[in-house]
Amino acid sequence: TRSSALTRTRTTCGYCGVGCALDVLTRDGEVTAVKPAHDGPVNRGHACVKGRFAHGFLRSPERLTRPLLRRGSRLEPVDWPEALDHVARGMRAAIAEAGPDTVAAISSARATNEENYLIQKFMRTVIGTNNVDNCSRLCHSPSAAGLTAAFGLSGGTDSFDDAEHADCLLVVGANPIEAHPVVGARLLQHVLRGARLVVADPRRVGLAEHADVHLRARPGTNVALFNGLAHVLLDEGLADLDFLRRRATGLAELTALLEDYPPGRVSEITGVPVPDLVAAARLYGRAERPAIIYGLGVTEHLHGTDGVRTLSNLAILRGAVGTGRGYGVNPLRGQNNVQGASDMGALPDLLPGYAAVGDPAARARAERVWGVPVPRTAGLRIPEMFAAARAGDLRVLWVVGEDVCATDPDTNLVVAALEACPLVVCQELFLSETARHADVVLPAASWLEKDGTFVNFDRRFQRVRPALSPPGQARTDFAIVQALAATLGADLGCPTPAAALAECGRVAPVFGGISHQRLDQEGALAWPCPDAGRPGTGKLYLDRFATADGLAHLAALPYLPPGESPDGDYPFILVTGRRWAHYNSGSMTRRTGNLRLDPADRIDVNPADAARHAVRDGDPVTVESRHGRATLNARITDETAPGQLFCAFHFPASRVNALTSGHADTVTSCPEYKVTAVRLSPG
Ligand code: SF4
Repeated sequence: TRSSALTRTRTTCGYCGVGCALDVLTRDGEVTAVKPAHDGPVNRGHACVKGRFAHGFLRSPERLTRPLLRRGSRLEPVDWPEALDHVARGMRAAIAEAGPDTVAAISSARATNEENYLIQKFMRTVIGTNNVDNCSRLCHSPSAAGLTAAFGLSGGTDSFDDAEHADCLLVVGANPIEAHPVVGARLLQHVLRGARLVVADPRRVGLAEHADVHLRARPGTNVALFNGLAHVLLDEGLADLDFLRRRATGLAELTALLEDYPPGRVSEITGVPVPDLVAAARLYGRAERPAIIYGLGVTEHLHGTDGVRTLSNLAILRGAVGTGRGYGVNPLRGQNNVQGASDMGALPDLLPGYAAVGDPAARARAERVWGVPVPRTAGLRIPEMFAAARAGDLRVLWVVGEDVCATDPDTNLVVAALEACPLVVCQELFLSETARHADVVLPAASWLEKDGTFVNFDRRFQRVRPALSPPGQARTDFAIVQALAATLGADLGCPTPAAALAECGRVAPVFGGISHQRLDQEGALAWPCPDAGRPGTGKLYLDRFATADGLAHLAALPYLPPGESPDGDYPFILVTGRRWAHYNSGSMTRRTGNLRLDPADRIDVNPADAARHAVRDGDPVTVESRHGRATLNARITDETAPGQLFCAFHFPASRVNALTSGHADTVTSCPEYKVTAVRLSPG
């Protein structure tokens, strides 16, 4: 038989939030190669080992190809009508017996914008609840809250391209060389061309080797560190007083607060030597065009939103945001579409485009488009969904494309929640840890089998196009939501992803100028883009900030300690994060050749601590916290500071998140993954 012709499909990487444009080559229903697109707006011909090579999972024999229904202790294959009917009956019964707020959905950063739009519309209009959330709750919800409070919108303040005009980069709580490799490479090249670099991270991350100053503050002390930097900026006359007078508010309160944060005191709290703190403040403060880029090391804390606010203070003090100079304050988003999932309103308190469900005008606009009333009280956040399930108050939990039993903190409590919930529905590629606890498992399509759009870390919409058909009976999340609505006798409208994005633009005018047709012609569009006749917006706030008064808001926030601190019983601080070959729970990358590059989670131990505990490289060690226990092999490295440990969570079998705590950001409930008190023992 002759093989068919080679097909080239332009799509967007479904791993991290950089949003690399990829050309996927297929023949006879198989991927033969993935090539980074030379005209990709962010990647410009580059891709990392995940986007380029981690596609073997597509044809893994473990792919789910039929719906599964629990019968006793077993999950048995059934046809779609039986599975959907079971889910629909469970939802109907929960609503009839206890009301719509006993049903909840966790939407997905792995899903497209159009799928997220449809899921939140389903929950609000078919079920009648705002109980919908997405995994930004667990990573960048403090960014959304902090950036909105400081500047008015929830996204980063600039296009990433502007970072390459910066003469000083302040990279905080991020390891882009491993977690966002294409961005990491662009930043490194910029530094090698002469930009100054300050890295603030407890670990000696890749970029730190090239830094002018590396601030290794103790985990959980960010607010003190940022207040200390702000103190030096003001003390040394490095603030832009003209900008502050014209375009900011809150300077008097901040100035008063910062009297409590002289370098000496900040050094005591953070462990950062005074000369390093002062040197970093001078580098950022004297730069013509300074840039702030940050990651989950800022957000995943008990006071993560305070961290975003106090970090934003630095850019406001310097007048380096909303002006021609500088690259504002910009988060590196972790998952491919975590920005878009929130943009589309898969949030319990916000409709598409970040309109509050409590705002009558915003509800009225959505109701005009959807034709039904929108519930007015905020729904449950993800941790609240689990708590409600454990309390017997949640009857149905629908989890779309998230392995919450592997990625959410305090695994034992998450499992208890799923076991207590009468109906758990899981939409997945594989029989994940979460799917094993589900009553119904629906086989879903991957990012290489979908039509729609993603939004990357700098607010750019880009097209996602199917290079292959899903295997067996697997369906896209879009098709599954439509089918479930139809089983419940509802019509969601939006017959195609293109129609869903068009409708979203009517609910949320900030996206009103973006369409599949335009993206097919123009490649990428950054929101806000309300007008089909105009380009999107890379750099925000050049005229005014989007706050009610049009001003940037400085925040006078004191340092408060993290939820846990080391003590005699638990003397180490555990920090969790990512490694370069894998992605989140690893469900896709572990089923590719990347497994050979990084075959297991390891725990990084500083050589001094290893010597004290008689641990050698590769030895098994037991790590215990107040919440659980895990056994991993040690990796001895001075990338991790004495008294601290680091590990990723790519291998559910290592149960790293059994260790992490339920402490969470006081504003947004983002878990404090970056500070858990633990102890270490050999064996
Ligand atoms: Fe690009 Fe991120 Fe995909 Fe790597 S994982 S190819 S950096 S989008």
